[in-house]
Amino acid sequence: ESFEQSDLHPRLLKNVGLAGYSKPTPVQRNSIPIVVRERDLMACAQTGSGKTAAFLLPVIHRMLEMGAPPAIPEDILQGINRPDTAYPTVLVLAPTRELAVQIHEEAGKFSYFSGIESCVVYGGAQFRSQVSEVKRGCDLLVATPGRLVDMVERGSLSLEMVQFLILDEADRMLDMGFEPQIRNIVQRMGMPGRTERQTLMFSATFPKEIQSLAADFLGDYAFLTV
Ligand code: AMP
Repeated sequence: ESFEQSDLHPRLLKNVGLAGYSKPTPVQRNSIPIVVRERDLMACAQTGSGKTAAFLLPVIHRMLEMGAPPAIPEDILQGINRPDTAYPTVLVLAPTRELAVQIHEEAGKFSYFSGIESCVVYGGAQFRSQVSEVKRGCDLLVATPGRLVDMVERGSLSLEMVQFLILDEADRMLDMGFEPQIRNIVQRMGMPGRTERQTLMFSATFPKEIQSLAADFLGDYAFLTV
């Protein structure tokens, strides 16, 4: 089985080839059609399974299919008090700086010549340099939870236009104590009557805490274990 059989956007297929991927891993083969069909997803997958591309590929595909990002509604525009606030369409939350950077790099490969800009923010780095990072273009944002909350509170970022939320290594984020930040972040999205959000959760394990997070954040979701 090849990626060509997955009906991904031609630009994306080209970039997958350039990245040196020839055939999808099991988690990719299973997740791509689910996400392309706009369903929420809970996937149990380990590092090394190809889980990063399992969410990036179908999400980037959907962005390419949708074309230009939706215009920011008038009432949000009225409320903007800074000219440089970034409005990402995709938000990927990851537990550590290392993982966030890895996801961002993979997103960069897949969005080559697509018009989609990826950026990454994480704790421990200089705040100012990350503000200019998101200002350069930020359709797809990869972030660690604590730093993201800071940047939203300072007005550098807004989550009001997020249409795709991905929680990567959700069990590790909970182990690291990020649950309050994650809940804070999710509360800032999903404005009633506004853009429908699609949510994908990836976790190596599926304990009670992850099950209840899934129940709170996901709609009617597909469940996948590999
Ligand atoms: P991950 O589980 O997302 O951390 O991916 C593990 C490693 O496998 C990364 O170095 C990826 O670049 C690589 N990888 C993921 N999917 C594929 C694929 N379909 N073909 C070849 N390499 C892949």
